[in-house]
Amino acid sequence: MTTKDLARMLSEAADLMEVLGETGFRTSAYRKAARALERYEGELADLLAAGFDTLPGVGKGLAGALAEIVQTGAFDYLEELRGQVPPGVTELFMVQGLGPKRIRVLWQAGIDSLEELARAAEEGRIAALPGFGKKTQQTLLEATRFALANLRRVHLPVGLEAAGLLLADLERAGVYATLAGSLRRRLETAGNVDLVARAAPEAVLTALGEHAGEVRGSVVHGRLEGLPLRVFCAGEREFGTMLLRATGSEAWVRALGALPAGPDEASVFAALERDPVPPCWREPEHLGQAAPTRFVERRDLAGLVHLHTAYSDGSASLRTMAEAAIAEGYAYMVVTDHSQTAAYAGGLTLEDLERQWAEIDALNAELAPFRILKGIESDILPDGSLDYPDEVLARFEVVLGSLHSHFHLSSEEQTGRLLRAVANPYLTVLAHPTGRLLLRRKGAEADWERVLERAAELGKIVEINANPWRLDLDWRLALEWRERLVFSIGPDAHAPEGYADVTYGLWMAQKAGLAPERVANTWPAERWLALRQGV
Ligand SMILES: [Zn+2]
Ligand SMILES: [Zn+2]
Repeated sequence: MTTKDLARMLSEAADLMEVLGETGFRTSAYRKAARALERYEGELADLLAAGFDTLPGVGKGLAGALAEIVQTGAFDYLEELRGQVPPGVTELFMVQGLGPKRIRVLWQAGIDSLEELARAAEEGRIAALPGFGKKTQQTLLEATRFALANLRRVHLPVGLEAAGLLLADLERAGVYATLAGSLRRRLETAGNVDLVARAAPEAVLTALGEHAGEVRGSVVHGRLEGLPLRVFCAGEREFGTMLLRATGSEAWVRALGALPAGPDEASVFAALERDPVPPCWREPEHLGQAAPTRFVERRDLAGLVHLHTAYSDGSASLRTMAEAAIAEGYAYMVVTDHSQTAAYAGGLTLEDLERQWAEIDALNAELAPFRILKGIESDILPDGSLDYPDEVLARFEVVLGSLHSHFHLSSEEQTGRLLRAVANPYLTVLAHPTGRLLLRRKGAEADWERVLERAAELGKIVEINANPWRLDLDWRLALEWRERLVFSIGPDAHAPEGYADVTYGLWMAQKAGLAPERVANTWPAERWLALRQGV
């Protein structure tokens, strides 16, 4: 258990209490403690030793209860609360804009699942409920449909981790198996886990243990962390054919025609007289598209672009971030802390910037030839202007512009806002363009054709944010624009560990069919600096 886990449990308990109609002292005490734990930067063990009442706003009574939860690993009261709220009601928390108070009203009106909420909104029954109204009903309907579409899907790293644990189980049982399905194709979210095993279904069934369900034909079905699990069983001679088929996508495999039997994928492609196609390039969107001569890879990347330090909401110092970048073989990094308007994320004032620039100059002298570029992640303000006056913007070497608020403007307003930002002469990179959070928030609606067209015209770089919770710009749009735009892969790292997310960004760039020259991280630092000339 970590402090964050404990914070999450307390918030969940407070949410459930409110759904059950219990308000007042205990709920607010839980929320206060959850917030204090979120902010606490040390280890849980130290906090346990010091006593939880050393946290601001946490009293003796709650402190004792928290210590017991940590020591026993059990939070009985939370279990009790979970037992009192039907799972369908808990799922309503997935709907953006719904908090515990509104969920209570919905539940009391007999709405106890996402499906039921969508139906009630479609039939106009939500508008009449206290505190709702027609406009809310419409927004809720859209948000509920979004939640329904994402229900029981997981982010790519979550799916990969689950699949990895299962593959290890199978290996321990002496069953050779490998990853297939959308996870092997590195799709950004997964709705199921598919594996291919070189074994008989009975052997797989036994090896799966608690995850096993039933055998249908040569497929063993099961469940893994709520996800449907399928293990396709094949003999040695047709293992490659089965792997190709189970990897999909269905439409892409169908387009291959009848599949010959082969022990591995290479031999199946050879028998089809086709060049092997990597799994990332097997989506319906890739049908009829020419694969790039070479997909961009990790070894092509020279620089890290988009990272935060302790100057804003990162957790590591500039030096630590730089040394970690050097250790990973990068030649430069573009530090992009938050701008002043992002007060929630410790946005930098002009004085902060002066301090940071001085530190960068000193580090650059010390760490040469490694270079830190002076960047910023500037909020795109509601009217499309960038944070800071022009004379400050002019002093950055790289300016990222990002949407962090006002996601709900109309498509027309949002398009105008983004066009204005892109046209700003100081903007270098349009970062996480839609602001989406996969499975959580849809992101801004805009006329992306127009925005990206303008970016291409003006030579602006568009980010593929590599944070696996964002992966924004969507690779499908990047695929459409792969010949016209230059992209940057942004780890958006808030600690050195965040650099590892570059892998996800690379996978998305590969799905978008980006050749190395279309990715600005492959450029030397000088080429980034040259973009500033004439501005
Ligand atoms: Zn951002
Ligand atoms: Zn960022």
